[in-house]
Amino acid sequence: MFPQFCEGCNIPLIETHRLYCQECIQINIRNTKLGNWKSELTHGYHIDAAYSLLWYGDIVHECVHALKYLGSIIPVGQLVDAVTLPIIDADILVPIPLYHSRQRERGYNQAEVLAMVLSDRLDIPVNSKILYRTQWTSSQTKLDNIQRKENMAKKFMCPVEPPLKVLLVDDVLTTGATADSCAQTLKIAGATWVGVITLATPPLIKG
Ligand SMILES: [Zn+2]
Repeated sequence: MFPQFCEGCNIPLIETHRLYCQECIQINIRNTKLGNWKSELTHGYHIDAAYSLLWYGDIVHECVHALKYLGSIIPVGQLVDAVTLPIIDADILVPIPLYHSRQRERGYNQAEVLAMVLSDRLDIPVNSKILYRTQWTSSQTKLDNIQRKENMAKKFMCPVEPPLKVLLVDDVLTTGATADSCAQTLKIAGATWVGVITLATPPLIKG
């Protein structure tokens, strides 16, 4: 399933389970250099810090795709290793959970896999057993703004007392709405600081 030649420049790939050679990764990824961009989030009331390593683009898409559909963490690991990670003082990494049915059909949560990659690099343990999705919200488009907010607030539950400083992990961050909802749930449960780190974010659109 994996190519034998780099998808970017066609040179033979010496190491397996890669899509791109290291050089193509280095040339084509764009480091956001955003630092903590919490103030730019449309929804970030409960979030204390937000970090997104890369601008979302073709290479990031392909590497996340490999995580989702080829089941390999190596391409994403290559991306993570190509950037300087921020220094974050958190007790635990918590992947943003998928709906149960979606996880069952895919077999795993890509945020959880990314959390494992980051755990290794940041030296912070992962715990994916403290935050869960509560219900489907697929009919959200039919709701008005207030109903949507109420719906979001009940989207997650934290059945245990979380550590004080929690860093949420997801593959892509856009408005921050989902992460904010997770942060709200974790703070109600006792967390005092909740940040979020994602592999990528689309170029910023204010609104
Ligand atoms: Zn290449």
